[in-house]
Amino acid sequence: MNRPQAVERMVEIIKKLPGVGPKMAERLSYHILKMPQNEADRLIDSIQQGRRVMKYCDVCFNLSESNPCPICADAYRDKTTLCIVETPQDLLAVSKVKEYKGLYFVLGGALSPLDAIGPDDIRIAQLLKRLANDKISEIILATDTDSKGETTALYLAQLIKPLNIKVTRLGYGLPVGGDIEYADEVTISRAIAGRKEM
Ligand SMILES: [Zn+2]
Repeated sequence: MNRPQAVERMVEIIKKLPGVGPKMAERLSYHILKMPQNEADRLIDSIQQGRRVMKYCDVCFNLSESNPCPICADAYRDKTTLCIVETPQDLLAVSKVKEYKGLYFVLGGALSPLDAIGPDDIRIAQLLKRLANDKISEIILATDTDSKGETTALYLAQLIKPLNIKVTRLGYGLPVGGDIEYADEVTISRAIAGRKEM
């Protein structure tokens, strides 16, 4: 017996989510169908509300309820230091470190030649435009410590150093191959304090 068409449609959509395979998608679909109606409604509402309210900041490309986002709109932040991260979740992780008072830029991914993701597929052009307009004296590269993140950091360092901007990379403490998003506040704080010039 095949899955009913309505369930099939749910599975097809849900299995496109990151980290969800076909089996898990089926499990989640039946779980949603078994939920009390009000809980299912809340799930659907929260997704719709999130999609409606969240937008990209035109300055740093963080996801926020306002544009510019609260960090870019904060007059008290150090506007000469820019921390470059891959995703809004990475920005969130670094922003928990109170000692860091600079600004951010979200690349929207990392370079990955194997997946055919090149400089035009992430926000390199937007970054260069920002560097041309703003007075940035230091760039902190906080891309992930996996091979894509390292490739991206090296590429950016080569691109930015000729602009007479100091380029640093997060220092010791971060696990190799790790995602900044999952690193804790103390680890990121130490990695920022121990950053090294590239
Ligand atoms: Zn912003």
